[in-house]
Amino acid sequence: MNGTDQKREKMQAGRNDSDGEIARLTRAYDWRTTDQDEIRLRQQRAREEQPTIRNLEPVHRIFSQFEVRSPSGMTYLVELRSLAGRIFSCTCTDFRINGLGTCKHVEAVLLNLETRFSKIFAEAVENGAHADAARLRAELTSVRPAVRSEKLGQVADEFDNRHSIERARSMGSVHTIVPATRLRPYLADAVQRGIHRTLIALAERHGEHDGPR
Ligand SMILES: [Zn+2]
Repeated sequence: MNGTDQKREKMQAGRNDSDGEIARLTRAYDWRTTDQDEIRLRQQRAREEQPTIRNLEPVHRIFSQFEVRSPSGMTYLVELRSLAGRIFSCTCTDFRINGLGTCKHVEAVLLNLETRFSKIFAEAVENGAHADAARLRAELTSVRPAVRSEKLGQVADEFDNRHSIERARSMGSVHTIVPATRLRPYLADAVQRGIHRTLIALAERHGEHDGPR
């Protein structure tokens, strides 16, 4: 192999490397990535960045609030509500907009807990499924009567709106119901009748004043 060949081979290799890099970056920012890819990406970031994690309510080792301080100095608040159902929250922008229900801060907390308390972490995942079901059942039981009475209220309002004007007329508090389409001619007519009455009254008063003179 002469010098030129070696050089060409080196360039070839270099291009392959950068192609690989671009493909990797494209994958990372491709909107066609699956949710699982997106979550894996955040897990990778969590492992790389290793933010500082502090449990704000140490009585609860897993289902607690955690302060997560990133290497850039930003602090976020992560909350774990369910491991089985993956119900988490974080105050960062990524969590708010990505629709994944997780972010690199949540994943960092999960990773940290799984490493430190592997046994109770596994138990929390296992028991969590039962606890979640029980909690959701309780929530449903408490929400059902509220929704029912709200719906009943809506039906009653609808009934009242439809019937109160008819009721008012039958009770004598309303004389006539004028449909919206007839309102304009009705008002014009009423104004004209009013003007007519006023003119007659004026003419009569004028006549009275004129009379005795
Ligand atoms: Zn976050």
